[in-house]
Amino acid sequence: MAERPSLLMATRSAGKLRELGPMIREAGFELVTLADLGVAPAPDEDSVEAHATFEENALAKARYYFGRTRSLARPPAAVLADDSGLEVLALDGAPGVHSKRWSGGALEGQALDDANNARLVEVLRGGTDRCARYVCVAAIKSARREWHARGECGGVILTTPRGDDGFGYDPYFFSDELRKTFGEATRAEKETVSHRARAVRAVLELWRAVEGKAS
Ligand code: IMP
Repeated sequence: MAERPSLLMATRSAGKLRELGPMIREAGFELVTLADLGVAPAPDEDSVEAHATFEENALAKARYYFGRTRSLARPPAAVLADDSGLEVLALDGAPGVHSKRWSGGALEGQALDDANNARLVEVLRGGTDRCARYVCVAAIKSARREWHARGECGGVILTTPRGDDGFGYDPYFFSDELRKTFGEATRAEKETVSHRARAVRAVLELWRAVEGKAS
């Protein structure tokens, strides 16, 4: 039987693996994770994505993990990495690439999301323009080439949160297309319009067209 090309998803986020894993498998690839390959966390990992654009960060991450997996007995055929964030029009695109740690400090998990959302509510207080978009750039690096693709989804920032699903800014992000917040949407609904799903689908297509076919 033809072998499915193996694709390393370069993330340590269980949420992203849950969100993107099925899509990668349905597209015909063998999904491998950093844990599957025994790629342990390294001190320089976070500094890889310290660039000014989503494109640079996603490509840097794909190159970094591609490099770290070359000496393995069975290196993956290619590495997929992504970088994403929220851009608010009235804030000239902030928090953008700084979305994860916008509130500063060393919080993690729900406490970090709460602090980021508190800052978002505060800086937009009294303003009339609340338009925003989520942006994601997904990148794939193989031995011969690199590809990247962008996905976006538009909405507005609400003054009060709605829904318990999703993560990050989701309870405040009211999607133009779903007519509900990402906190109220099911995972399947979010996937139909999400920036990340769009970017990953597009970059998988680019890769598949050139060298991602089963051999
Ligand atoms: P990452 O680059 O995908 O890790 O995303 C960086 C940050 O952007 C996250 O920590 C969130 O604060 C925000 N973000 C990106 N995508 C989403 C999303 O789908 N929902 C909520 N927040 C998101």
